[in-house]
Amino acid sequence: MAQGGGAKQVKLERESELRIEVGNDAPLKLRLLNGTAEIFGTELPPEIWLTFPPRLKFAVFTWYGATIEMDGSTETDYTADETPNISYVNVHAVLEERRNRAKASPPDDSNSSQPQGPRVIVVGPTDSGKSTLSKMLLSWAAKQGWKPTFVDLDIGQGAITIPGCIAATPIEMPIDPVEGIPLEIPLVYFYGHTTPSNNVDLYKVLVKELAQVIERQFSANAESRAAGMVINTMGWIEGQGYELLLHAIDTFDANVVLVLGQEKLCSMLRDVLKNKPGVDVVKLQRSGGVVSRNAKFRQKSRSHRIREYFYGLANDLSPHSNIANFSDLSVFRIGGGPQAPRSALPIGAEPAADPTRLVPVNINRDLLQTVLAVSFAKDPDQIISSNVAGFIYITDIDLHRKTITYLAPSAGDLPSKYLIAGNLPWLET
Ligand code: ATP
Repeated sequence: MAQGGGAKQVKLERESELRIEVGNDAPLKLRLLNGTAEIFGTELPPEIWLTFPPRLKFAVFTWYGATIEMDGSTETDYTADETPNISYVNVHAVLEERRNRAKASPPDDSNSSQPQGPRVIVVGPTDSGKSTLSKMLLSWAAKQGWKPTFVDLDIGQGAITIPGCIAATPIEMPIDPVEGIPLEIPLVYFYGHTTPSNNVDLYKVLVKELAQVIERQFSANAESRAAGMVINTMGWIEGQGYELLLHAIDTFDANVVLVLGQEKLCSMLRDVLKNKPGVDVVKLQRSGGVVSRNAKFRQKSRSHRIREYFYGLANDLSPHSNIANFSDLSVFRIGGGPQAPRSALPIGAEPAADPTRLVPVNINRDLLQTVLAVSFAKDPDQIISSNVAGFIYITDIDLHRKTITYLAPSAGDLPSKYLIAGNLPWLET
């Protein structure tokens, strides 16, 4: 039921939730009046008004009962008493047990059998609630004092940084329901497109790089190894998408596979993973609250994400406009554009373009209004295996003066002269 402006109170019975879609034009204010409640695993502070931006979709859930007050307009708000949260918190309890066991067992001499916390991967079709379940598991773990690693392999709707990237970051506190994940030190690899089919091989290479870095961090840090990781994946589960899921399970050595809302995917995964000892495949119900988002909405939220990177969630950041000479920067693209699938080639023929070949890009006006990643590489050879420091947005190219004007989160020189172009257009509006 859509609601106009004005404050209203909602009483929630135990184990029920208030599902909200904030209106398109104005934020919504909400506070917890009494009882206890959480948003996707993060507890609400008592009495304090929180402001939720337009279009945000979320639920306020209570284990024992609560009264909520909200002020502002919503697209929808309704109460639901059927949620899968008990089964989700049961999963959390099992993961906790494994973390405690990992922490308690003495390290072994051989690296491979060091005590391990859970390596959870959340899979399922689009709009099954994968990101939401990942957030809940991470926030519940952080509340108990763990610092689990969040790995986001979803290049379509990045939860850690802008779309087109895969990334990982330790979660040190329950995730803020408004601000999301703090962007302090994420480990980010730039893929540059929002669908993996553009360059499946590159996607796999980057997943491998990310996994290797996390593996090194885990072997140096018993605490993060015991806390383990939660991996969020893409909603592409057919054909090549399915192959990529198997690749991720294998590459990260996942030992808990949570399948949301799809019998078929669950039984396929159980079948292929039955010979892998120590991997549990668990089917979980999709929440009825998960909102389906169409292509237009997804496109819009991608743009919002990029805008948020430069300007902040509430326009609270001021990016800097900088000018550089063409000769100060080197732009590369990885791979030679979309590949012809092997199946389209004569038997035995290899695709001509190497999908991970580094191609120098001439600076011209084609780069206008695109987002480029700034690599940490010290040398072009290292670009593919290097993570990125951040992003810039090209606002002007003067061919006559040979200068580029770009927007960056801060003033000063870029950390490296090597930039990676992808296919991330953005209209700064
Ligand atoms: P995709 O694969 O497309 O990235 P997903 O499976 O990760 O999607 P989510 O992002 O978790 O799905 O959920 C989709 C939307 O539904 C999000 O905006 C999320 O905040 C919202 N949502 C999830 N659960 C609930 C709920 N119980 N009540 C209200 N909104 C919800």
